[in-house]
Amino acid sequence: MRRPFIAGNWKMHLTRAEAIALAEAVAQKAENFPHVDIAVCPPFVYLEAVGRAIAGSRVALGAQNMYPESSGAFTGEISPPMLSDLGCRYVILGHSERRQWFGEKDEFINKKVHAAFKAGLRPIVCVGEQLAEREAGQTLQVIRRQFEGSLADLTAEQMQQTVIAYEPVWAIGTGKVATPHQAEEVHLELRKLIAQRYNTEISQQVVIQYGGSVKPDNAGELFSQPDIDGALVGGASLKADQFLAIIAGMKKGQPSGGR
Ligand code: PEP
Repeated sequence: MRRPFIAGNWKMHLTRAEAIALAEAVAQKAENFPHVDIAVCPPFVYLEAVGRAIAGSRVALGAQNMYPESSGAFTGEISPPMLSDLGCRYVILGHSERRQWFGEKDEFINKKVHAAFKAGLRPIVCVGEQLAEREAGQTLQVIRRQFEGSLADLTAEQMQQTVIAYEPVWAIGTGKVATPHQAEEVHLELRKLIAQRYNTEISQQVVIQYGGSVKPDNAGELFSQPDIDGALVGGASLKADQFLAIIAGMKKGQPSGGR
């Protein structure tokens, strides 16, 4: 049975004091949602402080990126063991902003995924089509290519531990959310791809989040879809009340497709 998982991607926002206050507010209420796994992913420089703020709570710590080498002359980069050392359990990889602004390609993302596992981190791997690709009817083709490239050569056990975030690029930070039907279609396709490469049982165990303008008023409908197991939340994760309201949108017994 898959456990629902909702993570907040704080991107390059907040002061240190604001990050601590937000983390404490989420941690305080997290006990109310024992059926949902919760994580927050602050900027690197606040990881330690946020880690302290959520210590002993049900909220896990995640990072937003990393470099795929363990150490070395890579000025300005952060290694997977450094993240583990700070108490991170998750790391977001291949976010569309990394793909778009920093030129990250599937092959490089795949290196990071393998490096994350080596350091004991669970990767949250983002895939998603651009608006022009959707309009050209290429959505599933793009998803297949990103799945094959960024998730290449994983063992069955690693696949089970991987979280996939389907984030249509046109829905990120735009206020335009995918319809539950549009999102479910891609989630189902991802599950089919996993089943083809591994087997049905493994495909039923992988947690697949939706991301893209998730808000308290649309979360419930998205979460009611059988293959949507939670969300990667950007803007709305910066306000404790909104993030908690999104978490509250995940009802006990969901996702209904989980076995
Ligand atoms: C994200 O950054 O992964 C994201 C989904 O952002 P937003 O919720 O703001 O669209």
